[in-house]
Amino acid sequence: MILVLFGPPGAGKGSIAKLLELRRGMAHLSTGDLIRAELARPDSPVADRIRAVVESGALVDDATVEEILAARIAENAPAMLFDGYPRNLRQAERLGEILDRAGRNLTAAVLFEVPDAVIVQRLSNRRSCPVCGAVYNLLTVPPKVKGVCDRDSGRLVARPDDDEPTVRRRLELYHRETSPLVEYYRERGKLVRVDGVGEPEKVYRRLEEILAPFERR
Ligand SMILES: [Zn+2]
Repeated sequence: MILVLFGPPGAGKGSIAKLLELRRGMAHLSTGDLIRAELARPDSPVADRIRAVVESGALVDDATVEEILAARIAENAPAMLFDGYPRNLRQAERLGEILDRAGRNLTAAVLFEVPDAVIVQRLSNRRSCPVCGAVYNLLTVPPKVKGVCDRDSGRLVARPDDDEPTVRRRLELYHRETSPLVEYYRERGKLVRVDGVGEPEKVYRRLEEILAPFERR
């Protein structure tokens, strides 16, 4: 099984990806993690190139990301999931080509649907602890004492890009880049929509139900 997970920022893809990795043993191919892993490999031919790019503060270019992805796909894990990639139509086409060359087939592209209003509410109420990294939500998972981490009394902070105007801009960008992607996968009969509202465990169960017919193919 090969899945692409996509959806707006704050849709909870990361939590679902972790559950899929844990419970189904899927190889979790998130480009950020892959780049970090590549940098840590002593014998990697691309690591030096990436290091130079990252140190200059630029983003790693598509060709390099594709090279890393192709290498991981060639390792031929029986089940893989892509999280945060592809983000646009061009990347989706390239991923299709890489999978083709490896003789693999995408099972489904899973779109996590969460209304913008819910995302704004989720993200603008998100607070995290700079000491231990714990994440709270003032509405759904508040700390016991206002503004303070339950574990270590760290002062909770909001991420600068989680304020409402920034979240709205991120959502606009997401919709612009992603709508062609939705169409691309829909045309190929690969698009699967999952209601992303609710606890990760609930969303995960919905996804399992949706994926069941694909496993019998
Ligand atoms: Zn803490």
